[in-house]
Amino acid sequence: MSLSLFDLKTQSALLKPLIKQKIEAVLEHGAYINGPEVAEFERQLAALSGAKAAVGVSSGTDALVIPLMALGVGPGDAVFIPAFTYNATANAVLLAGGTPVFVDVDEATFNIDPGQLEDQIDRIKLRSKLNPKGIIPVDLFGLPADYAAINAIAQKHGLFVLADAAQSFGGGQDGARVGALAPVTATSFFPSKTLGGYGDAGAILTQDESLVPVLQSIRWHGTDEARKESIRVGMNGRLDSLQAAVLLAKLTVFEDEHRRRAAVGAAYDAALKDVVTVQALPPGTRHARGLYSVLVSDRPKFQESLKAAGVPTGIYYGMPLHLHAAFRSFCNGPGSLPVCEGLAQHIVALPMHPYLTEAEIAQVTGAVRRAV
Ligand SMILES: *Cc1c(COP(=O)(O)O)cnc(C)c1O
Repeated sequence: MSLSLFDLKTQSALLKPLIKQKIEAVLEHGAYINGPEVAEFERQLAALSGAKAAVGVSSGTDALVIPLMALGVGPGDAVFIPAFTYNATANAVLLAGGTPVFVDVDEATFNIDPGQLEDQIDRIKLRSKLNPKGIIPVDLFGLPADYAAINAIAQKHGLFVLADAAQSFGGGQDGARVGALAPVTATSFFPSKTLGGYGDAGAILTQDESLVPVLQSIRWHGTDEARKESIRVGMNGRLDSLQAAVLLAKLTVFEDEHRRRAAVGAAYDAALKDVVTVQALPPGTRHARGLYSVLVSDRPKFQESLKAAGVPTGIYYGMPLHLHAAFRSFCNGPGSLPVCEGLAQHIVALPMHPYLTEAEIAQVTGAVRRAV
C-alpha cells in the first residue's frame, strides 16, 4: 500500500461533481471578486464555528496581518508568540510593524506555555522599551492552546489575543469551537489544512462585530464602504469567489472528515502512547488533527525505518523560530527556549488525513512500534 502524509486526491474525486458545479456557477455570473460565494462562505464559517462574524481573506498569513493592523500594532509594540510554530506567525507580526517576542512551549501540549508567557510579559515590562500589545497563541497540529489561561493573562495585562488557528479549524474546547475561543481568530485554507482550498485562502473569525468593517476595509486597500476613498492603510487581501466556491463544496463533508480525523488520532494514540511521546490531549479539548506528530529519541533512524516500511514521515518543525536567521535578532539565541529546542530535535509527523483505512492505520502503528 502506498501511504501519503496528506491525501487531497480521495476527497477531490469524491467531491468533483459538486466542485465543478460550484465553479461553473462562478463562470456563469462572472463576479470573480466579491461574488455571492464569498458572503455565503463567510456566513457558513461563522455558523459552524460559533464566531459572531467571518471575513474571508487571501491567505492564513493575511488573516494574521489584517487583524494586527486593525488592532493598531506598530513600531515599539511587542507581540508574544510561541517559538515552536510556522514562520508565518512571526512574519505577520513583523509585516504589521511590531516586534515578535518568542515564548517557550509546554512540553506536553507543544503549545505556548502560560507560565512562560507571563514571565516574558513581565520581562518586557521591566527590562525593555517595548510596549506589550498582544498575544498570538498557535493551536499547534490542531490542538487548541490553553485559551482559558491565555485570555486571563491578556485581560490582566491589557493585551489583545489573536488566535493562530491555521492548523486547528474544526477543533474546540469545553463545548466551544475554534473561532469562538479567542476574541479574534485567524485560519488558513492552504490545501493541506483541515479545510483546504485549491490554492491560497484564509479567514478571520471574530467575536467583536465592531472590528468587522475595519477588517473588510483593510482587505480592500483600506477604502471606505463606497470604496472611493482610502481611509487607512490597507492591502489586497480578498478571498476569490472561485476559492470560496471550492471551500463551500468542501464544507459539505467537513464535519464527517473531522470525525474521521478524530478516529485516526484516537487509534494512533491508543496504539502508540506506550512507545513514543504523543501530544497531550487536555480534558474537554477537541483536537482538529491537522497533523499527527510524536517525539522519538533517534529521529533519523526512526524515519529510515518507517520509510523502509512504506510509511512517509515529515518534520514540523525542525528549527524553532528564534533560531532562524530572519528572527534571530529578536531573542537571546540558542539555549534561551529549551523546550522548543528539544522538540525540534525529536518531533516527527505521521500520515494524517480523513481517508486512512483501518489497514493503513495498522500499517503505520505497526511500523512505528517496530521502529522504536
Ligand atoms: C499554514 C500556517 C500559517 C499560514 O497560512 P498561509 O495560508 O500559508 O498563509 C500560519 N500559521 C500557521 C501555524 C500555519 O500552520
